[in-house]
Amino acid sequence: MKETAIKQEPKWVDTHCHLQLTDYDLADLSFEFLEYLIIPGVDVDSSKKAKEFSSNLPVPAYWAAGLHPHDAKNLIRQKEELSELINEADLIGETGLDYYRDHSTREEQRENLIFHLEMARKLLKPVIIHCRDSFKDTYEIIAKYSGEFPVILHSWTGGNKWTKKFIELGVYFSLSGILTYETAKDLNLSVKKIPLDRLLLETDTPYLAPGIHKGKNNKPEYIVETAKHLAQLREITLQELSDITIKNTNTMLGK
Ligand SMILES: [Zn+2]
Repeated sequence: MKETAIKQEPKWVDTHCHLQLTDYDLADLSFEFLEYLIIPGVDVDSSKKAKEFSSNLPVPAYWAAGLHPHDAKNLIRQKEELSELINEADLIGETGLDYYRDHSTREEQRENLIFHLEMARKLLKPVIIHCRDSFKDTYEIIAKYSGEFPVILHSWTGGNKWTKKFIELGVYFSLSGILTYETAKDLNLSVKKIPLDRLLLETDTPYLAPGIHKGKNNKPEYIVETAKHLAQLREITLQELSDITIKNTNTMLGK
């Protein structure tokens, strides 16, 4: 009897997936295209939940503890518990600077970011950074820690100028569904220039659903849409992109 070869679909690492912020029934989600995923926290509560979720999924998962720039104003109140969680977590974040929403003052956001970077320096864990309309300050702050630990710029949206500068810092660029949007022309141009060994993929579930799913709640399986777009943009096959991004994420995690 002849054996039928089962074609293996390429697998992906969703490096930014807030499953703990959704009310999805896990049984309704498909994880078959995922190698593993990373669940970042945005404050103490969601970091604890990230830890819980990471051990209750049908695929391997890593978790991160951090305080989002929107809530940077709560750093003093959450610092002690956050430090304990960060000690335990696989990665640190998400943190960063968001000068688009300015939900906390910029000074509070910078202090919050520096707190996370100092923890990373001590623990040598990767840090996940949210950078929106804050390229200059983010750059100047993380440049002081360059090369000490892996830095992931999550849902990267920068154009040529900032992409080039951040490439020099040796960071990882994680690309979300934004890459697939009609409006992301500059981003598409700059992403062509990122060295292949610096590329990561993410969904940012439940936000930023890609392509045809835009406007819906995002979910891990939609990462395939962004991957297809990126593979085409970089003129490589889906399987090549899968191999590259899995290898990059493993390296980033020290696996
Ligand atoms: Zn996020």
